[in-house]
Amino acid sequence: MSMLRFKVAKEAFSRKAVPVNEPKERPSEYFGKYVFNREKMFKYLPKKTYEAVIEAIDNSTPLSREVADSVAAGMRKWALEMGATHYTHWFHPLTDGTAEKHDSFIEHDGKGGVVEEFSGKLLIQQEPDASSFPNGGIRNTFEARGYSAWDISSPAFILDKTLCIPTIFISYTGESLDYKTPLLKALNSVNKAATAVCGYFDKNVKHVYSYLGWEQEYFLVDESLYAARPDLVLTGRTLMGHESAKNQQLEDHYFGAIPSRVEAFMQDLEIECHMLGIPVKTCHNEVAPNQFEVAPIFEETNLANDHNLLLMSVMREVARRHNFRVLLHEKPFKGVNGSGKHNNWSLGTDTGVLLFAPGKTQKENLQFITFIVNVMAAVYKYNGLLKASISSATNGHRLGANEAPPAIISIFMGKQISEVLEKLAESTSDDVLNMSGKLGLKLDVAQIPEILMDNTDRNRTSPFAFTGNRFEFRAVGSSANCASAMIALNAAVAYQLQDFKKKVDALIANGKEKTQAILSVVKDLITESKDICFDGNGYSEEWKEEAKRRGLDCETSVPLIFDSYLKDDVVKMFEQTHVFTQVELQARNEVKWEIYTKKIQIEARVLGDLAINHIVPVATRYQSLLLDNVFKIKSLFPAEKSELIATQDMEVIEKIAFHLLTIKEKVHAMVEARKVANKIENEREKAIAYHDTVAPQLDDIRYHIDKLELMVDNEMWPLPKYRELLFIR
Ligand code: ADP
Ligand code: MG
Repeated sequence: MSMLRFKVAKEAFSRKAVPVNEPKERPSEYFGKYVFNREKMFKYLPKKTYEAVIEAIDNSTPLSREVADSVAAGMRKWALEMGATHYTHWFHPLTDGTAEKHDSFIEHDGKGGVVEEFSGKLLIQQEPDASSFPNGGIRNTFEARGYSAWDISSPAFILDKTLCIPTIFISYTGESLDYKTPLLKALNSVNKAATAVCGYFDKNVKHVYSYLGWEQEYFLVDESLYAARPDLVLTGRTLMGHESAKNQQLEDHYFGAIPSRVEAFMQDLEIECHMLGIPVKTCHNEVAPNQFEVAPIFEETNLANDHNLLLMSVMREVARRHNFRVLLHEKPFKGVNGSGKHNNWSLGTDTGVLLFAPGKTQKENLQFITFIVNVMAAVYKYNGLLKASISSATNGHRLGANEAPPAIISIFMGKQISEVLEKLAESTSDDVLNMSGKLGLKLDVAQIPEILMDNTDRNRTSPFAFTGNRFEFRAVGSSANCASAMIALNAAVAYQLQDFKKKVDALIANGKEKTQAILSVVKDLITESKDICFDGNGYSEEWKEEAKRRGLDCETSVPLIFDSYLKDDVVKMFEQTHVFTQVELQARNEVKWEIYTKKIQIEARVLGDLAINHIVPVATRYQSLLLDNVFKIKSLFPAEKSELIATQDMEVIEKIAFHLLTIKEKVHAMVEARKVANKIENEREKAIAYHDTVAPQLDDIRYHIDKLELMVDNEMWPLPKYRELLFIR
């Protein structure tokens, strides 16, 4: 087996960069080549159809059957011309990732042959037999069917000869079984609520868009080395492996040149992304060895999220072409940084104003303050929910591990904004009155733009940071579907804005002047929710104490964090914003707990197997070599001398014996803990049992294996070591 390790290391070492097929055209010419965008629609659809579709996209109205038929015909024509042979409804089930069911364009022609067919009905609706997708029992209880339906706001695209149609996925009775449906609802809700609030400042605003710019972190590992690590293959992370003597201490990777094999991969990925209309802009090294990042220009949130999901699957394909495997797991390696996916998020009007960007006039700045304070209030009230929205078995390794945001949600506002907010909150009603007068307001609020120009004091330890014209939700995990975070955030902010509007309207109805009314509610919000603001070191122990005192959610157990979704105020918020019903929330939590359990269960099985069948035999063999040696020493040298010569070996033999014994005992205990947990019927209770009694044993067992790795002859060690996984490229 150790032969395998050396063989794969040699293979990996000798690889050269794979040449990239560069298109002859310029990026601006091939951008979106595989996307049925407006330009293609214009070309392939009859004028009337085109107009009807654009109308439907812009105003979120349903398509009539005739229009759908006409769109399908045009789309099919384009797809066939592009060489597509199949089509699929592409959707986001509750597992993180995407799902597809491929059908060919072929239909019976009634004469014993086939024709290439694709009707509007197939475009608009499909019935994937998807009873094996997680659904938390909704489909079992109601009806064993799910429907997928085209999300016309996201354009169809061609991937590997398949026309992919972005769709929502719902049960027969209308409950969402995916991420896209509630995301669209949350975006609709925040649009309505924000547009209403914008009405105080500019009556011309008809629509408010939510924007998302994600930054995807990932690791690359040579495919041969990857194949020799069953834990990476089966769980996406290394379950054992002693730290490499060198890892990220020198911080040389972050600033270093991109290795040539990786550079080729990145170039290839960028081209592929551009053809699929994903506006990828930057690719660079990250902190940890073999860790990298790719980020696009931000887009409307629904589209940006589709693009992120598409990117993740394209990355996997492209990596294979370059003899790499891409690791999207949040924590593939112990001791080096994990991977996140910062969600840069903002709201912007159809009149071109970014609502979190300070403006040039007083009115714009009052609007700016209004919106950031409402975000602050929403994050404060729903901090537990936001944490739940980014929590998973895999992201749990990253949060609170002194390299990523802690398992507590707080906002970093930066010094200048904090000062402005403080001043506003402390002002007496007379001051507020003054501030609403030209001079005062100018003094306190209108100065912001200048100050912000150099607002570069970036707090890397904050899970949710204001960064000049947007918020950066940094706690999102690298493997996650961003929709989870975006649903919670947009819905919470929508709800908060609704509440804000009600309060301001009530004051106005009581005769208060509009600006005063707004300022008065803003002031209250700052006072009520200032406890969410924290500009200090989020990694510190003091913050954990302080956060507890402030009443922020400090729960660290992932299965318990999920409880936030079912708290009364959260259920009410989701119902009022029409994003989820209680039934959906309950069902989705069942899925979350189930996935949590399964992930830990798989890790436990893999580690048990590796420990008992890979590590124990090798360590035993090495131990017996040492024993042999001791015997020989004893038979050759006189007693006193042999005692001395053999001491070292004897010590190692004993240590190995201790670790072997402990590993066997602990693996046995872990199996027993699993047996107990598996008997639990309730998904929540089962996940809690896995968290409390199984997961901790993984770390324990690993500790002893990693100790053995330091003792056993390098030549015999079967699995590629960290230095090989992290430094060969
Ligand atoms: P960083 O310094 O954090 O790496 P970048 O300038 O690279 O920041 O931007 C990160 C992401 O934020 C990019 O996807 C970018 O398009 C996005 N972004 C920039 N402005 C906004 C905004 N107003 N709303 C949403 N995303 C934005
Ligand atoms: Mg960033």
